[in-house]
Amino acid sequence: MRSSYLVFGQPLIEPPEIDEVVASMKSSWLGTGPKVAEFEKRIAAYKGVPHALALNSCTAGLHLACVVLGLQPGDEVITTPMTFCASVNAIVHAGATPVLADVDPATMNLDPEQVRRKITKRTKALLPVHFAGRPCDMDPLMAIAKEHRLVVIEDCAHAIETEYRGQKAGTIGDLGVLSFYSTKNIVTGEGGMVLTRSPELARRIKVMGLHGMSADAWKRFSDDGYKHYDVEEIGFKYNMMDLQAAIGLHQITRVEPWWQRRWQIWQRYMSELADVPIGLPAGWPAHERHALHLFVLQVDQARCGLSRDELLMALHRLNIGTGVHYRSIPSLSVYQRRFGWQREDTPVATTIGDRALSLPLSPKLGDGDVGDVIAAVRAALRR
Ligand SMILES: *Cc1c(COP(=O)(O)O)cnc(C)c1O
Repeated sequence: MRSSYLVFGQPLIEPPEIDEVVASMKSSWLGTGPKVAEFEKRIAAYKGVPHALALNSCTAGLHLACVVLGLQPGDEVITTPMTFCASVNAIVHAGATPVLADVDPATMNLDPEQVRRKITKRTKALLPVHFAGRPCDMDPLMAIAKEHRLVVIEDCAHAIETEYRGQKAGTIGDLGVLSFYSTKNIVTGEGGMVLTRSPELARRIKVMGLHGMSADAWKRFSDDGYKHYDVEEIGFKYNMMDLQAAIGLHQITRVEPWWQRRWQIWQRYMSELADVPIGLPAGWPAHERHALHLFVLQVDQARCGLSRDELLMALHRLNIGTGVHYRSIPSLSVYQRRFGWQREDTPVATTIGDRALSLPLSPKLGDGDVGDVIAAVRAALRR
């Protein structure tokens, strides 16, 4: 058994970002400034999209996306039950009504046929989540959106590297939103970014993300002197700090080598757990690029003798931290109370959520750590 606890979802922080944060502190630009602008440029270039707007979280970005796309009370937004609560909360914060469609059992992503069944006269938007980093089947989803004149917001919290038929995730719908939360593929501590091809949506995200003010605060005090600002709308305080962008600027340079490292870990898990009676992630077709954000096992007690929670606790006792992504949204009490949702409403997602266990997949893991995870899973299942 390992001597130290292996924490799930640890970010890899290297000296260049530590130095850059210190440089930010010394330059006195703590808030939104030149480093945020530079980080936006680098993400836009990586994603091949004209506009990228940095914010203080993906949750803020999803909320702003709903706001700038004009969602109103009574409007319905179809999303997935196999997601983090933030995807659903953002819809509620914008005053719209979330509607859940069940997922496909293999991809764990929104099933376009189930989405079709949930369309009503009030449906205004789709909010697909590229779960674990695997792209949603965007062609049928975009076809449904076109047919019913819906806007599409892609939750790309897991999906920085994700591609679908040559298109980068987050550039297929109207708006895509990335997360740089501490456990995601690249991190800024807290942080998010909205991607769009539309200059008008980009401008509105920028304005609404900073109080509704017409110009960036940092430009107000630039070298060319003070300029008056206007407040055009009642906005939010969602801007990213230079201190956060200082981290992201260096993280983005390693996005591809880290993906390669996670791919090695992924393949080791696939081959060295192949004979264990637990479900491993499904394969994907050549036209998809998986971001390899989460390695989600399916633990079926009838097959392996342990419930998900029992395996989770056994691994914990063996000093291996794991995650649960996710308990299905209708399993959570607030949604049952507020919307009357029941676990049986989305049976595929609920079964996946009851069995889901995520193994560590951080590029911070050494080969020894990966070996420890594999050995612990085998020991817990006595294989
Ligand atoms: C992490 C996550 C979010 C929220 O991201 P934050 O940056 O923490 O706000 C939203 N959706 C999904 C699917 C996530 O995993």
